[in-house]
Amino acid sequence: MTIVPLSALHDNYIWAMQAGQACVVVDPGEAAPVNDYLAAQSLQLTAILLTHRHHDHIGGVDALCRRHAVPVIGPRSSQMPQVTQVVEDGERFACAGIEGEFEVLAIPGHTEEHIAFRYGSALFCGDTLFGAGCGRLMGGTPAQFHASLQHIAQLPPDTLLYCAHEYTLANLRFAREIEPGNPAIEKRQARCAALRAQGLPTVPLSLAEELETNPFLRTRQPAVSARLAAQYARPIAGGEAAFTALRQWKDQF
Ligand code: ZN
Ligand code: FE
Repeated sequence: MTIVPLSALHDNYIWAMQAGQACVVVDPGEAAPVNDYLAAQSLQLTAILLTHRHHDHIGGVDALCRRHAVPVIGPRSSQMPQVTQVVEDGERFACAGIEGEFEVLAIPGHTEEHIAFRYGSALFCGDTLFGAGCGRLMGGTPAQFHASLQHIAQLPPDTLLYCAHEYTLANLRFAREIEPGNPAIEKRQARCAALRAQGLPTVPLSLAEELETNPFLRTRQPAVSARLAAQYARPIAGGEAAFTALRQWKDQF
């Protein structure tokens, strides 16, 4: 089993998961990178998985379906007519040619219908969690988003997160603003800057490292509370209130 990022659009990753000749893709915002990869590796597409309704995640689906007769598995949404197999929270399903099952996690927040797919220690988390950051609120509520991040935070720490954008370095600049005294952030910044200088991705993400460096998963850390209280000139409770304050701050950062 190998999982490979295919670069698409400006900074999107389409994840291609392959076993033998079978290939499943997650969030194909464009068809061409997928078709090129399938041809180069002599693979057969067996399913398309979608995390949410945004165009940069589903834009390539129609073109792919004209060429490959495959199920399109995703959440229930009036804005995702491409989905042929609607899946719900907790549901398990299999994809042709891939051993084992995927499990669906509802993680609303970035959008109201957003889901993630868990396969073994891999979590395809779309635009919910990014390297050292998280997606914007574009349909869900702050309470939902915070709960979804908490859900991810409670997965086994060896979980690898396959997110859909390369935002890690920009997010680390914000993380450092929030926790200037956190050496794990500084270390990660140096490592990720070296990767990007070589044109390499900073993904997948290690959940253990996110827990140490991602402010949106660190809303109960005293250093984060203190920084927020100073910025907003009032005490801000940990948890959801801190998440909301961090998200607002980051939106303008
Ligand atoms: Zn999105
Ligand atoms: Fe996106």
